[in-house]
Amino acid sequence: MKPTDTNPLLDFDALPRFDLIRAEHVAPAIDALLESARRAVESVDADARPATWANVVAPTETAFDHLDRAWGAVKHLNAVVSTPAVRDAYNAALPKVTAFYTDVAQDPRWFGRFRALAQGPGFAELDAAQRKVVENALRDFRLGGAELAEPDKARLKAVEEELATLSARFDDNVLDSENAWAHYVDDARELAGVPADVVAAAREAARAEGRSGHKLTLRYPCFVPVMQYADDRALRELMFRGASTLASDLGASPDWDNTAVIARILELRHEQARLLGYANFADLSLVPKMAQTPAEVLAFLRDLAQRARPFALREHDELTAFARDALGIADCAAWDLAYAAEKLKAQRFAFSEQELRQYFSEDRVLAGLFQVVETIYGVTVVPGSAPTWHPAVRFFEIRDAGGALVGQFYLDLYARESKQSGAWMDDAVNRRYAHDRLQHPVAYLTCNFSGPVDGRPAHFTHREVTTLFHEFGHGLHQLLTRVDVAGVSGLQGVEWDAVELPSQFMENYCWEWDVLSRMSAHAQTGARLPRALFERMLAARNFGSGMAMVRQLEFALFDMLVHAEHVPGGGGRYPTPQAVLDAVRREVAVVSRPRYDRFMQSFGHVFAGGYAAGYYSYKWAEVLSADAFSLFEERGVLSPEIGARFRDEVLARGGSRPALESFVAFRGRPPQLDALLRHNGMVAT
Ligand SMILES: [Zn+2]
Repeated sequence: MKPTDTNPLLDFDALPRFDLIRAEHVAPAIDALLESARRAVESVDADARPATWANVVAPTETAFDHLDRAWGAVKHLNAVVSTPAVRDAYNAALPKVTAFYTDVAQDPRWFGRFRALAQGPGFAELDAAQRKVVENALRDFRLGGAELAEPDKARLKAVEEELATLSARFDDNVLDSENAWAHYVDDARELAGVPADVVAAAREAARAEGRSGHKLTLRYPCFVPVMQYADDRALRELMFRGASTLASDLGASPDWDNTAVIARILELRHEQARLLGYANFADLSLVPKMAQTPAEVLAFLRDLAQRARPFALREHDELTAFARDALGIADCAAWDLAYAAEKLKAQRFAFSEQELRQYFSEDRVLAGLFQVVETIYGVTVVPGSAPTWHPAVRFFEIRDAGGALVGQFYLDLYARESKQSGAWMDDAVNRRYAHDRLQHPVAYLTCNFSGPVDGRPAHFTHREVTTLFHEFGHGLHQLLTRVDVAGVSGLQGVEWDAVELPSQFMENYCWEWDVLSRMSAHAQTGARLPRALFERMLAARNFGSGMAMVRQLEFALFDMLVHAEHVPGGGGRYPTPQAVLDAVRREVAVVSRPRYDRFMQSFGHVFAGGYAAGYYSYKWAEVLSADAFSLFEERGVLSPEIGARFRDEVLARGGSRPALESFVAFRGRPPQLDALLRHNGMVAT
């Protein structure tokens, strides 16, 4: 009996068997895959022949690919259907997977084989992508501790395992405290101002629990519109307080308090950096990135802050004056800002996000998105079929002009319980050429939008449309790659601070008339977006962009400084992480936060995700994406010629060469800041 007959996680013939995978399959499948990956590494270690690509790299490719795919599916399930069983299975396997990668990264014989390959006569004959794989491997061996003495190796391994477990716990704590938070409203008058469909969804949520009235949650499709539209100030403050105290000492349960988790994570990261010979975690984190030093990143962020702050201050003054004069709010607080901003926007530009939302139905938006991609990249997007983890998930294929398969993707758009919040793209299958066969790339695209309510098709806010384009940009990076070598195809091996280039690039299309008008149809009348309304959107585009930018810079500066200048245990410039945050807020923030604000405790990007000493990447890559789009602005935003060049020089290359080289090959020069400032309305006129 083949193992696949009993364990669907071991079926690699086609797409993941989400129709069959159960929590009890996780442990045996991951154990088996770890074992075969370990055996593959041992076979390379034991090989005494002169090192070549064929006997050093190739023998482990398939075993690692299978482990990646199966573990990726488990990780994905844990994020989108986080049932207790799935979560337990994931958490039980996680330390084994982490230990395996730490072990092989430190394996001196494997390291030796790669070194021999890099120094041998055959190295020059490898193609550029293959050489990059070998160079990346040598770098990762060093960062994995392969050059350390034995006791340090063991300690590093223990540190990395504990870090992986703590990251998972950080996320679990946030998700649990978010799930536990609810506010029930019996009197609908308390919801005055909140859009009807949000109220309807809240009523459905209460009914699903067998209750009358309305259930409000902190999930985005509920939280954001309540903060923007609820006339009841006390309700806004209540929701704000809930969202700002998640997973903290002020949250629902002390079991979910992330305060100690954060302290321990910072301590371990610092130790990890010191073991590897770096002064701090920020130095270590930047080794595989485009940016060279923390000082360079801090200077970049502070330069932007200096340019953005005058705009942010002016916006804030305007907003508080408006709140006082027009809304009677004398002391405009953090929970009034989104509300006051919506009102001021409605007064000044005569439209609201909810009004716009009526124009963007799911099907129209998807058709519009696909049309952009089809026009500039010469591909087609067609529905496909695949087993999924939830009936709401859709599946598509990208085909080239001749009809050949390029890649496939899952689309999981709606928010639901036990699904991690936010929006992201993840790889399901990476492109590679193996066993005389091309393995096509597959991506997971996950969002948390409002789904259909009362049988009406889902309608998205313009912000949600922009998020979808953003994630789809990541998806194209994964799917339009032409690299055949595992490890540097798609997003693999791309410098972290360049990863947001293709995604932020796509957002620009949400501000193009041709694109927007074609993908709009009013929910009642079917009319397209009126040109006059679009003009008002454009006028409003940079409304609040100064405040939004300094908020992002606050996050990025905190992240870089807490990893560069706070020394856990004392001796650094800042005694505690909170002291870092306070100092950064004094430096750049224009909005004061209440004392109970526990922002750090749910800052998953930095404490649970991969953005540690890397949050600046968003702004860093936005310089690249704005500058890349400016070439389209010069030559036609839907130009197939420039599109082909962008695909050839940037998207298709994956991690096979440095991102800066790819950028220069596309743009014809190094990146410049101008386009970013112009797109944000931050140019002196
Ligand atoms: Zn992104």
